[in-house]
Amino acid sequence: MAAARDQAFLAIEDVVKDFGGVKAVNHVSLDIAKGEIFALLGSSGCGKTTLLRMLAGFETPSAGRIVLNGMDLAGMEPYSCPINMMFQSYALFPHLTVWDNIAFGLKREGMPREQIAQRVEAMLKLVQLGTYAKRKPHQLSGGQQQRVALARSLAKRPQLLLLDEPLGALDKKLREETQIELVNIIRDVGVTCVMVTHDQEEAMTMATRIAVMSEGRILQVGAPHEIYETPATRFVADFIGNVNLMDGTLSVDEADHCVIACADCQHYVGHGITGTPGMAVSVAIRPEKMMLSRDAPAEPYNRTEGTVKALSYFGSFTVYHLGLASGAGLKVSLNNSQRHRDDEINTGDKVWAHWSQSAHVVLTQ
Ligand code: ATP
Repeated sequence: MAAARDQAFLAIEDVVKDFGGVKAVNHVSLDIAKGEIFALLGSSGCGKTTLLRMLAGFETPSAGRIVLNGMDLAGMEPYSCPINMMFQSYALFPHLTVWDNIAFGLKREGMPREQIAQRVEAMLKLVQLGTYAKRKPHQLSGGQQQRVALARSLAKRPQLLLLDEPLGALDKKLREETQIELVNIIRDVGVTCVMVTHDQEEAMTMATRIAVMSEGRILQVGAPHEIYETPATRFVADFIGNVNLMDGTLSVDEADHCVIACADCQHYVGHGITGTPGMAVSVAIRPEKMMLSRDAPAEPYNRTEGTVKALSYFGSFTVYHLGLASGAGLKVSLNNSQRHRDDEINTGDKVWAHWSQSAHVVLTQ
């Protein structure tokens, strides 16, 4: 019973938001459990901010319901809602100290002074900014400002914390450090969190589950590794990370394997898909699941020959861009685990890409 209630701590039930005929959010349903960090991920205009704004009470759904801990948000006064939103710009008051920024909402609520002082001190400790209490926001780094904003958002002990592109204003290195800090603080407090981001690495690093959105709809919901390793559609496979997508035809489908014929290779997949031979399917293979060799692999399956057209060096790994006989391209990513390779592969070389029978994701939509 408790488990069932926990599963739907936040229930988004068939929610629609129509802006003059444009459905920015189109029949979205989601159940979010208590304590989750849930990411809404999608490219610009997919409707993620509109959905977050409805959770914050800034917009009203055109249809459907949002239920938090058993209570319909539609029936709640905005100020009584146990929900707080942290914006990308942090929206700190520039003329107030860190201490007063954190205390602001508590004072407005009429909380007794003693209690405010205790709460602010606890928040400063939580975000490790105790020694910065007297500073103004412009005397802090971007990462520190972000932590003040988080402390202010958490000071009122919301049941639901909403984060709008929380780290969008930080540079890459600081963003990566802050992602982990932010997750640790949110976990310590135990608050349920919904965040919006267009940055897939941010969603993958921070979230317990991700909803991939496109054109107002949810395409897939899952843990980061599920979304990455078992995308349900071509769109999701292509949207998350790098992928080689190949169109083909199912030629054999048995319980323990299937064979898919594509223009440049025959795929032997180590499981059946219960499809009909002759049907059109796509195969998705991540570049890091492929290997390269100069000699042709013995098996006639799961291999293709190509010419290296370009290399992209990323330090820890290199992506080899191959041109295949059909004219299609293929990306293979190899770890640079050694400083120098004996047999370095260069632009113009003819090589074989090959992969195992568990590397594929077979997609029918
Ligand atoms: P971004 O990452 O660029 O903020 P998003 O995924 O958050 O994009 P939304 O801001 O939710 O997308 O917008 C979804 C769609 O709804 C867009 O087509 C947008 O133009 C439209 N839209 C958003 N707000 C309004 C509004 N107040 N009035 C009319 N249309 C709106």
